[in-house]
Amino acid sequence: MSVETAGLQQFSLGEQIVGRIDALAAISETPEHLARIFLTPEHRAAADLILSWMREAGMRAHLDAIGNVCGRYEGDRPGLPCLMLGSHYDTVRDAGKWDGPLGVITAIACVAELNRRGKRLPFAIEITGFADEEGVRFASTLLGSRAIAGTFDESVLAGRDRDGVSMREALQRFGLDPDHIGAAARVRRELLAYLELHIEQGPVLEDQDIPVGVVTAIAGATRLAAQLTGMAGHAGTVPMGLRHDALAGAAECISAIEYFCRTDGNGLVGTVGYVRAAPGATNVIPGQVSFTIDIRAPTDMHRNRSVADIVRQIEAIAKRRGLALQLDVTHENRTVPCAPWLKSQIANAIAAEGFAVFELPSGAGHDGMAMIDIADVGMIFVRCRGGVSHHPDEHVELADADAGARVLLRVIENFRAAN
Ligand SMILES: [Zn+2]
Repeated sequence: MSVETAGLQQFSLGEQIVGRIDALAAISETPEHLARIFLTPEHRAAADLILSWMREAGMRAHLDAIGNVCGRYEGDRPGLPCLMLGSHYDTVRDAGKWDGPLGVITAIACVAELNRRGKRLPFAIEITGFADEEGVRFASTLLGSRAIAGTFDESVLAGRDRDGVSMREALQRFGLDPDHIGAAARVRRELLAYLELHIEQGPVLEDQDIPVGVVTAIAGATRLAAQLTGMAGHAGTVPMGLRHDALAGAAECISAIEYFCRTDGNGLVGTVGYVRAAPGATNVIPGQVSFTIDIRAPTDMHRNRSVADIVRQIEAIAKRRGLALQLDVTHENRTVPCAPWLKSQIANAIAAEGFAVFELPSGAGHDGMAMIDIADVGMIFVRCRGGVSHHPDEHVELADADAGARVLLRVIENFRAAN
């Protein structure tokens, strides 16, 4: 057997997955910049392609009331509760091709493999390709998984895209009935668990030199908007000791946030991603500065304590510098812990494939944040090059795609529901 043939056999699942990742990536608003946005013609074309793959894998498949692609592979008798696998197939603009589709395509490859062997399990397998996770079109995320979890907020139907089209209108044009979104909802007794395979979107697995990891939790996040108000003044005439420089104060706050998170050692991350100084002139002392703070941690308790600590530090800096401070929480979401019983089944599968078992939290949001309302959640991360994501350079090696698929297949075949 030639080396090449051996390689093909060794990575047979990975080969198919990468081929389909490329096929799906070809469905884009523009050929140069991958963009597959909710309720567009590309959404429809991608859904049709995924439906065809599901049917080819021996599944019944349909589009649900919000545009999710849903497939079902019956267990050893019909009507059994399911292990639900899934991820999203929408993208951001100028996206990479792996974020989302890898989870959907890998799950289908696993079911196709079971089907090829004629294997039925003592539970059903369902795969959901969520229609909108990223929230690009209507600035509201997790639309597909919220519909499945029965937590879809009807008020978002009135939201409009950048062309002024409401979500209600967009659903109707797509051929879906906005008044029937409730029909997409599932209930807890139908699901044994929700399991998602996704690219890491960070550099940790690459740093550890391992292809797959066990996710411990989807980190919750707190976002704050801060405004510091001092006194604008002439850059030449106001002595340093008499200044109330809002931007210098903000700089001290930013350094304090970075230092606090950097020295935490328990997975805390903090980012100031936006700063605006007014009046914003070379020769004027900045009188007012607005900036944002994004804080994430693997547990809610750790995040809440850290946010309180950071707020105290910012208040102290403002007070010492004679700056007025306005601080508002603009967004907050809870941490979604992955179920210990699922983590251990994933860890067993990773070990059985001969890889080191490594646990890591997810700093990015995922559909599990919605699915937790109706099922225990587990996640498998697959290494991506340089940790790059939401970018055309996003890349997964064929061998890693294959490793992820073999781990997922093993988890499915050895799956035992929680008691
Ligand atoms: Zn994603």
